[in-house]
Amino acid sequence: MTRSPVDAPLTWNVAGLLAEDPGASREFDVADVTIQLDDGPELARPISGHVRLRRTNRGIIADARLQTGLRTECSRCLRPMEVPVDLVIEEEFLPALDLSTGKPLPADAEPDVARLTDHHEVDLEPLVRDELVLAEPIAPLHSPDCAGLCIDCGLPLDEGTHDHPTDDIDPRFEALRGFSAASDEERGS
Ligand SMILES: [Zn+2]
Ligand SMILES: [Zn+2]
Repeated sequence: MTRSPVDAPLTWNVAGLLAEDPGASREFDVADVTIQLDDGPELARPISGHVRLRRTNRGIIADARLQTGLRTECSRCLRPMEVPVDLVIEEEFLPALDLSTGKPLPADAEPDVARLTDHHEVDLEPLVRDELVLAEPIAPLHSPDCAGLCIDCGLPLDEGTHDHPTDDIDPRFEALRGFSAASDEERGS
């Protein structure tokens, strides 16, 4: 079967599979695939996994199990971290062209359905891209008990010591604090 072009690593030509009976299938390994995610999360490592393409009565079902990781930061301590992502994609692609005449099939009949490309290819990249954006966690933690940042010095609480003298501040410093707050107000007005 036709190999995917280098610049479209999540695309497979299924012209041959479309000529076979329903139930026929092809399997592909996905290894070291990197795609660009505009305005989205950044991949922490390449995508790898397995794709199965199966002929149905109407088109091709793609069944993909892919693994990768996203680069993000801990929502409490802001340390960079990677979250693993497992993608499970199952989608039926219908032909864009009538296989015997080569004429475009009406797409407006089923606008929400995935279509093969004009070159009889399954292109999983848009689906993978969407799934990766959805997979970005809202408030990831680098460890379940991340202590977060110190409100006094701004450094991670699980690093160094944070016994800052907040409760028994020298009265002279207390006076200075009042002074600096007042001058901030003046500047603000
Ligand atoms: Zn953290
Ligand atoms: Zn501190």
